[in-house]
Amino acid sequence: MEKLVLNAYAKVNLGLDVLRRREDGYHELRMIMQTVDLYDILTLEKTEETGIAMTCNIEGLPCDETNLVYKSAKLMFEEYHLSGGIRIHLEKRIPMAAGMAGGSTDAAAVFNGINELYDLGVSKERLCELGVKIGADVPYCIVGGTALSEGIGEVLTMLPNVPDCVVLIAKPDFDVSTKYVFENLHANSLTYHPDIDAQASAIRAGDLAGVVRVMDNVLETVTEAKYTEITDMKNVMKENGAMRAMMSGSGPTVFGLYEKAEDAEKAAHIIRERNLAKQVFVSSFYHPVK
Ligand code: ATP
Repeated sequence: MEKLVLNAYAKVNLGLDVLRRREDGYHELRMIMQTVDLYDILTLEKTEETGIAMTCNIEGLPCDETNLVYKSAKLMFEEYHLSGGIRIHLEKRIPMAAGMAGGSTDAAAVFNGINELYDLGVSKERLCELGVKIGADVPYCIVGGTALSEGIGEVLTMLPNVPDCVVLIAKPDFDVSTKYVFENLHANSLTYHPDIDAQASAIRAGDLAGVVRVMDNVLETVTEAKYTEITDMKNVMKENGAMRAMMSGSGPTVFGLYEKAEDAEKAAHIIRERNLAKQVFVSSFYHPVK
């Protein structure tokens, strides 16, 4: 194979808890991860000249060795002593610095893509071991679907598919850095913890109402406290039929779960009209073929 085009899916967190801040500064997390049908498109092409050549449709995103795509390709080339070079084009569609694991999912697509393009036959387990060197969420993105993620994000337990519903995703016009949110979270003095076990049980039982009932994200205590737009968007979603609306990851993206597409469309219209967000998507859960 000479060329491969693949989709890199974004995620939302149906539940996000921080257990504690470790001595080394990392945070111990428990998260329910779910891929959504919103994706970047990566084109991977073998080249005769050696080296990694990367391009992207977004002007502000560097395509050099700081990009997670570049870093992942370099790691795969070194690990498997690949000869020649590779050209990678990234068509970015997932909002950036948004709490949707955009960079991690691009990295994951490079691990999966190079494995396929060069017919390496590397197991998902091994790809995940390599992926965690790039970022804690990369192993999850390599497998995708519904999962309980623990540790710093690298300990994964796969779960059955969450029952389908309509997912409205809205990213306001400002960026939030994950680092800022964790630095401002008082992890060791949180008074409330979401019931992640109850959510995992509801998923195993195929009980969407049960999943929705315990949706919670402790990082809202930092990001939502700073940006009122997040509360405003959650309210618009809830007033227009969302079963629940919540921030994803460290934010500022907000998503709402709906039974009816027309309710999600109506909320999307209001969010755009009130200028709360420009990047607004009516989407669904994405379940990779197992
Ligand atoms: P997470 O949900 O994992 O916290 P995020 O959505 O908050 O991720 P990203 O969009 O993954 O954040 O990226 C954050 C920063 O990482 C960007 O501002 C950019 O500087 C850098 N970055 C490096 N590679 C990429 C990439 N391929 N796509 C997006 N951002 C990248």
